[in-house]
Amino acid sequence: MNGKALAWCVNGGKRLATLGNPQETIQILQKHDFHFQKKFGQNFLVDTHVLGKIVEAAEVGENDFILEIGPGIGTMTQYLCERAKKVLAVEIDKNLIPVLKETLSPYSNVEIIQGDILRQDIAEIAKKYNGGKPIKVVANLPYYITTPIIMSLFESRVPLENVTVMVQKEVADRMKAKPGTKDYGALSLAVQYYAEPYLAANVPPNCFIPRPRVGSAVIRLTARTEPPVPVQDERLMFRLIRASFNQRRKTLQNAIANSSELPYSKEETGQVIQEAGLSPSVRGEKLGLAEFAALADRFLQCGE
Ligand code: SAM
Repeated sequence: MNGKALAWCVNGGKRLATLGNPQETIQILQKHDFHFQKKFGQNFLVDTHVLGKIVEAAEVGENDFILEIGPGIGTMTQYLCERAKKVLAVEIDKNLIPVLKETLSPYSNVEIIQGDILRQDIAEIAKKYNGGKPIKVVANLPYYITTPIIMSLFESRVPLENVTVMVQKEVADRMKAKPGTKDYGALSLAVQYYAEPYLAANVPPNCFIPRPRVGSAVIRLTARTEPPVPVQDERLMFRLIRASFNQRRKTLQNAIANSSELPYSKEETGQVIQEAGLSPSVRGEKLGLAEFAALADRFLQCGE
């Protein structure tokens, strides 16, 4: 699929998007004398096929409000504006604001905020722009803060429908990993507690300017309306999960007993593990969400 084949109906059937290929991107960067800032994780997408895949995976519809994180020069923003009702784009780099004003000038359904996404009140944004209804988030994320951005969206209970993001391939693999595999860890459990992951595309380095050193992937995280497992104390469950994977090679019993975040002795931990019907030598990497939830409930009981 190329840019033309997408043929989105906008402004009487005409597509206005001009970005999405290396020539246009280089031209606009030169025109504004833009210099990439490594500290902001700037790798701009220059592939219409991948851009199409992202908006398709996000299931962007004409009634949707979309929050875009890090619009860069506005490449994906143009694609989003052509499909969604309203787009709000949050960009940290002041030098990109004049560029965005130019590239997004054909669109009346976009607003730009200059600032750090981690400092925005996203629940307030959902309230103001979408009447508090669940929003869709789309981003080619700056890789240096992928995990904090995703976790803060889910943990702060922002009303979310889905989050469709370009991340490092290795991070996408960790998000969707199952117990007992090499990629499985605390991130897999946290993401899968809040959302259902779906890998939409693998993206090679040559789809970006400048090229990143690693492969990338587009992953959609569809927010769950209910937690997949019942647990009395979520925070305790996540402390147990972090403890298990901080010392991945240790047994679950030693990892929990050694954790500075948890008050349990080796004996107490051993007893809870036994009561849960698990082997004394089990490692956290073998346990799924249901088992961590059951362990958390048992630890809670023994502390009462
Ligand atoms: N969306 C553009 C694209 O696909 O071509 C740019 C993607 S680039 C990987 C990441 C973008 O996020 C950059 O424009 C960068 O300046 C911006 N950014 C980095 N840190 C940010 C933050 N904390 N808040 C908002 N934007 C940020």
